[in-house]
Amino acid sequence: MDYNKLAELLFPNVTKTPADMEALYPSRQLPEGAKVTRFAPSPTGFVHFGGLFPTTVAERLAHQSGGVLFLRIEDTDARREVAGAAEGLIKTLSRYGINFDEGAVLGDDGKVTDKGVYGPYKQSVRGPIYHVYAKQLVREGKAYPCFTDAQELEEILSVNKKEEIKNTDWQAEAQARRAEMLKAREITMDEVEANLAAGNPFVLRILADGNPERKIKFTDLVKGNMEIPENDEDFVLLKSDGIPTYHFAHAVDDHLMGTTHVIRGEEWLPSLAKHLQLFRYLGFKTPKYLHIAQIMRLDENGNKKKLSKRDMGANMDDYTEMGYCPEAVCEYVMTLLNSNYEEWRMQNPDKAYTEFPFNIKKMSVSGCLFDFAKLSDVSKNVISRMDADTVTDAVTAWALEYDRPFGEILSNNRSMAREIFSIGRGGKKPRKDLATWRDAKPYMGFFFDEYFEIEAEYPEKFPREDIKSVLKDFISGYDVNDDMNVWFDKIKAIAEKNGYTSDMKSYKASPDAFKGNVADVSMFLRLAVTGKINSPDMYSVMQILGKDKVEERILKMVEKL
Ligand code: GLU
Repeated sequence: MDYNKLAELLFPNVTKTPADMEALYPSRQLPEGAKVTRFAPSPTGFVHFGGLFPTTVAERLAHQSGGVLFLRIEDTDARREVAGAAEGLIKTLSRYGINFDEGAVLGDDGKVTDKGVYGPYKQSVRGPIYHVYAKQLVREGKAYPCFTDAQELEEILSVNKKEEIKNTDWQAEAQARRAEMLKAREITMDEVEANLAAGNPFVLRILADGNPERKIKFTDLVKGNMEIPENDEDFVLLKSDGIPTYHFAHAVDDHLMGTTHVIRGEEWLPSLAKHLQLFRYLGFKTPKYLHIAQIMRLDENGNKKKLSKRDMGANMDDYTEMGYCPEAVCEYVMTLLNSNYEEWRMQNPDKAYTEFPFNIKKMSVSGCLFDFAKLSDVSKNVISRMDADTVTDAVTAWALEYDRPFGEILSNNRSMAREIFSIGRGGKKPRKDLATWRDAKPYMGFFFDEYFEIEAEYPEKFPREDIKSVLKDFISGYDVNDDMNVWFDKIKAIAEKNGYTSDMKSYKASPDAFKGNVADVSMFLRLAVTGKINSPDMYSVMQILGKDKVEERILKMVEKL
């Protein structure tokens, strides 16, 4: 077969050569060790937690090494494309600290546009580039056209199909299909010419030289050393509309764009042999690979399941409404990514997570477990380290969007809200009441009459008369100018007067000798003033509420009892 002639027949309009391409996309001039990484999503919907995960790795590796992180839009499957998805994912990722140096970015008009000299960064407009390399492969006898009905052959050769036909004798079936594939390789120049003359479409297939009996030794930077069978499947490089498959586009794009580290989901591992073959055929240097395990979750029965698109927590846009702050989510992702992150955080409470020396070697090889309880834990710590202004602004902004009346109350009473969020903040052991901005209302809504309600009953064992007496005693001695010690001494005195001890030691030694203790007395006050059994520090609460409000609430409770 005259491969040059074949190449001309198939790609008559391609005049450029790979050398021309190399000249257009020269290697990047970066400092030693700088990594070039990318996120390469198909714009088919929202950003999934399982997508944020590898992307954070890509971001950290690039920016920690003085390299480049770029965004490439893999929109070769127009049928699956969702309008506005690319714009949406750029915004969402930016919220989670993923900012691209290069690639598809948002222009001033809010539309996706290119930034950088290694573009275009949208695969759908890179057609001519792929065709240059496709033509070269044909010229070298490494790829051939296949005029069999494209879809039919797609099915014949698809590895996944083997899975589906498990119940039938798939080995026999696969053999038959392989025979067909080998037959397709034998196409003659006359047949090619006749098909082209008839206007028949073709797919371009690689001429696979692998033998699955032989294994390729390969080191994945996360998974470690592995041996994978060589590829013997003549997979499709260009579909019949001339659009490349993922495999082909991956090799061409990551080569020309200078990607040093490909970070992607482990679902691509079974295709790796194809990619290695393709890089070899094209004469490209193979990038380093990091295959990241799928994020798992526990189902109702405690079994590990893949975190799927529909699962709670999958869609990154949901976190905003749930009230999680991006800092907490980023921090949580870091705890999942590097086993020593939490220890580092304890030692460096004030540093930004980006200062953590992220290390590929500390990544988990198997799937990380997604867990809301853990996220909330991390989040409580993150929020506890924020200052009162930051928290006040964030809760207010969140509420204005998702709970308008509450948001308006907060913004109309900003300084009071700030004082409330200052309670127990700033010290060595800050309070950890909030995991989300949504938690703010249940935590501190009682300060405002609109949300104040008595949420619990006094326990039966305390005589109503005692409670009333305590409440009245408190009112008669209450002076809003008392400092905390004087204030508490008064409460202790009230306790003693009513037969409740203020000496916790003696109480513990013989609880039956007393009606109760000073903590019970405080609880009487707390429930009247806050409506809750648990609340932030009562002294601070009363200071913020002010004398009139404290008295009003206590008297109301006296009346009620
Ligand atoms: N478009 C591919 C995907 O969404 C990208 C995989 C890769 O990062 O290479 O799965």
